[in-house]
Amino acid sequence: MRTPFIAGNWKMNVEDADALAFIDAVKDRIPPKENVESAVCAQAVSLKDMKKRAEDTELMIGAQNVHEEASGAFTGEISAPALTSIGIQLVIIGHSERRELFNDSDERVNLKLHAALKHGMTPIVCVGESLEEREAGRAVEVVRGQLQKALEGVSAQQVDGIVIAYEPVWAIGTGKSSNPEEAGEMCKTIRSYIREQYGESSAEAVRIQYGGSVKPDNIADYLADEDIDGALVGGASIKVESFLSLLEAA
Ligand code: 13P
Repeated sequence: MRTPFIAGNWKMNVEDADALAFIDAVKDRIPPKENVESAVCAQAVSLKDMKKRAEDTELMIGAQNVHEEASGAFTGEISAPALTSIGIQLVIIGHSERRELFNDSDERVNLKLHAALKHGMTPIVCVGESLEEREAGRAVEVVRGQLQKALEGVSAQQVDGIVIAYEPVWAIGTGKSSNPEEAGEMCKTIRSYIREQYGESSAEAVRIQYGGSVKPDNIADYLADEDIDGALVGGASIKVESFLSLLEAA
């Protein structure tokens, strides 16, 4: 059985003081990780202090991006060793906002994934089609293509620890969540892809999250699907009570 994994993606929406206050408010109320694994992915400036404050809890603290190189002349970027040196083991890679706004191509997503794995981090790799692609009947082809490129050169041993987040672009931040049946079907397709490439035991091990307008009142509908193992949540992960309700539902 895969343990459900609920991760908050705070994007550029939570400043340091609020991030730390959030940790103080939730830290004694995080469910045991045997029941549900939980994380929040915050802006880089807050990660070190958040990690320290979350020390005695099972809440994981994650980054929202990582550079593919370990060091060098890459002004403004953050490396995997820099993250792990402050205890950050979790990172979102290839979020659609990064793909769209910051030129994170499939190739770059693949390089970032390798960098994260090389440094022992757990990556949450995001895939998902646009509305145009879905309406053209190309959603499965697009998602399989993203997976194929993202996972190039990744071994079966490595793939077992990867988290894949299926986030249809049109459902992100729009309040227009994907219908749970469609989301479940795509997550099944993703698991089938892992099965084809890596075999049954990897397909059973990999966790697949759904993301896109997940809220406390709809999360249970997604988690009821056997191929949806958790959620990557933006807006509804920022407020303390809302985040805790998401965990409760898992
Ligand atoms: P929302 O939950 O705000 O739609 O954002 C989803 C998302 O992009 C998580 O990575």
